[in-house]
Amino acid sequence: MKLHQLIYILPLLTACASAAPAELPVIDIDLPEADLDNTKILDSVLSQSAKDPTFKSNFPGLLDALNRVKKEDIGADDLARAYLKAVSGRGAFKKAFAELDDVQREQVQEFLDGQSPQAVVTKRGFSIPPSPAAKHHFKRMVEGPSLFSRRWLNAKRETTPVIYEDKAKTKPMQAFVATEFENWGLTIRNTPAITFVPTTVHGVENLIKWAKANNKRVRAAGYRHTWTDMYSADGEIFVSMLDLKTATAVPDASSILPSKQHPDNEFKVIELAEEDVSGSGGKKRLARIGAAVTNEEFRRWSVAGDHWTLPLNVVMVEITLGGSNVPICHGGGFRHKTLSDLVRKIEYVDANGKAQSVSDPKLLKAAAGSMGLLGIVTHVTFELDKMTYAIMKPEKIDTYLAIPPPRGYVVPLSLYKLVTPSKLQAAREKFYNDARNAYYSEWFWFPYQKRCLVNVWDNTPTKSSKVKTYPSPPDVFSQWIQGWLGGVINDDPLFRALPGLWQATFLGTLAMLALPPQLPGIGDEIHTYLIDALHFRRGVQNMRVRDIELQIPIPLDKAGDPMWEIVQRAWWDAISLTYADKRAPMRIAVEMRIMSGSDIVLAPQRGNWGTASIEVLTTMPAADEGIWDQYAQKVVDKWTSYKDANGKLLNVRPHWAKEWDTYTIHGQNWRQYAKNVSFKDAIPEFKRLLAEIGEEQGWTLEDLQKRFSVGLLDEVIFD
Ligand SMILES: Cc1cc2nc3c(=O)[nH]c(=O)nc-3n(C[C@H](O)[C@H](O)[C@H](O)COP(=O)(O)OP(=O)(O)OC[C@H]3O[C@@H](n4cnc5c(N)ncnc54)[C@H](O)[C@@H]3O)c2cc1C
Repeated sequence: MKLHQLIYILPLLTACASAAPAELPVIDIDLPEADLDNTKILDSVLSQSAKDPTFKSNFPGLLDALNRVKKEDIGADDLARAYLKAVSGRGAFKKAFAELDDVQREQVQEFLDGQSPQAVVTKRGFSIPPSPAAKHHFKRMVEGPSLFSRRWLNAKRETTPVIYEDKAKTKPMQAFVATEFENWGLTIRNTPAITFVPTTVHGVENLIKWAKANNKRVRAAGYRHTWTDMYSADGEIFVSMLDLKTATAVPDASSILPSKQHPDNEFKVIELAEEDVSGSGGKKRLARIGAAVTNEEFRRWSVAGDHWTLPLNVVMVEITLGGSNVPICHGGGFRHKTLSDLVRKIEYVDANGKAQSVSDPKLLKAAAGSMGLLGIVTHVTFELDKMTYAIMKPEKIDTYLAIPPPRGYVVPLSLYKLVTPSKLQAAREKFYNDARNAYYSEWFWFPYQKRCLVNVWDNTPTKSSKVKTYPSPPDVFSQWIQGWLGGVINDDPLFRALPGLWQATFLGTLAMLALPPQLPGIGDEIHTYLIDALHFRRGVQNMRVRDIELQIPIPLDKAGDPMWEIVQRAWWDAISLTYADKRAPMRIAVEMRIMSGSDIVLAPQRGNWGTASIEVLTTMPAADEGIWDQYAQKVVDKWTSYKDANGKLLNVRPHWAKEWDTYTIHGQNWRQYAKNVSFKDAIPEFKRLLAEIGEEQGWTLEDLQKRFSVGLLDEVIFD
């Protein structure tokens, strides 16, 4: 059976790597559906490329490495090295390499020359630098004329402000004129009138007073990792809580912040309360954290102190705690709600330019997770847990058994496994038990892989002698370079010209090799600090991706039992849709975490007994080919079609920070659907609570909309 035709344009591209060829020869990748798996796709790469004399010269060394993959004779570092070497002669690699600093360049070169990550980091150490995308954003920011440049002084003195950060007016706020903004996922672009980089609360107060007097809207950002349009806009005011210097400084692990690197930055503090939370039996403590503190800084602080940890967090470390709280981010594990559920106080600068705070638990349900509408958040007080230790035992399990399909579900042929009914039932029970009882539960399926990564673990209060920071410094380097190479090869025109199936398989193969357990069947236990286990991957920010994530409620049936089959169906629907389009629109992963509901008014998990927090991710080439949007819409259509035991549609809601509002839901505009259906009751309640805060603190909802809203929120929240 011929399933698909794919474009194979390597020969034409050989001469000119960056130009698009006029005519594209087409080649069949004649794989029956039963053969759409990692091994068979690699076979097809090997046989097809053997017919093409240019493949070897275009991707030197790659065929040898792929042959070693087939023989299971290669580790993640060697494969990563081979991928990088295969593209190292071309522009994308050279550009990315040139953008590294001197030490990183030497380290990458040493790795390419064959040194192990251990040898590379032993010489000079390694701490994770900002991603190329973040560096790019922060450099762009300063490309506009500085407010203090000669050009500004000559041309703009009357119309542009000098905002002072201190009462004595000695420290003007860093500011840049008309700098183009883009987010990490490259879904949003705009040109705010001025980009400010504040370091004091007083500075933010002055800025908002100026914005109010000049009728400008103000929106902040951390690392710009959100896909939705919740940032600033053309001609408005953008507040960057980070700049290149603050983002590049290696966080100080040894001291409790404020750190030596940012002595005058009020948004870079972690202040631990002196007393435990009363009634917690010494198990909870509050910490006041500046909005610009990053997950990496918090992680280091937490490990260095070995006393207190966030109980949950976003996996990625390149995230600000101000930025992740605003759109209600989350981690995983049935017992956990969202980050915003852990907030005990929000400090912010209001629409009048006045520093204020909210700590009433009722009002925090709107103020924590405010979508940025309350004002510029300066500090967040979180309730921390006493440090515990994770015992991670990641497993690679046959995809068919990791999350078994619901009864009667026809899975893609190549993933079907003939097993006895009792084995299948045991696999189901294991999944239900992991989902219901584990401290943390997460499943990954990388495209066309026969096995899934199951990252399910529990914690213990007892620190054994086996506890180490994880990943270790060499592992951090490996993970960083894997992410970096993902960015490089996805920018390489010849890699982009390969069939999507191949691209997806190359990436999926490396991901499976790189993730523990490294050796099949040997699941090493990893004993580590809880916060390290939450951030078990450190390089993902290096490769831009596209991502849709929905929160699917897990309802109870009429007997009061969880309807896990909805979760199983959602998982398999995403995989099946991947198989349904042989252009491989999904090239990174299907990922799912089980979590609890939430008490935060606008949380998409609110009111759920349990939530399947499920997402599909792809590469920028797949998005550029125009196939991602179609696939993602089909996934959305499936994920929003499930019903509870009474036949009522589940209230499936999107992660506010990920892609959603450019898609339709039940054939309707998603913004309107969010307003009129999904958050129909939550939005009025949210506004009522905000208005209650405003009544006390001297502002109105109208003031919020004028000062802090954006188009998306005008439509969904205010219209
Ligand atoms: C690779 C990747 C992995 C991710 N993994 C997860 C995950 O595991 N779980 C999860 O829930 N999410 C995840 N996310 C989403 C991510 O956590 C959110 O997009 C988060 O908001 C990004 O933090 P940031 O520092 O980049 O904030 P930004 O994206 O810069 O800002 C987020 C929003 O908050 C506003 N904002 C930022 N700072 C302030 C402030 N001080 N005051 C007022 N408003 C402010 C901005 O205007 C914007 O609307 C992931 C994203 C990426 C790219």
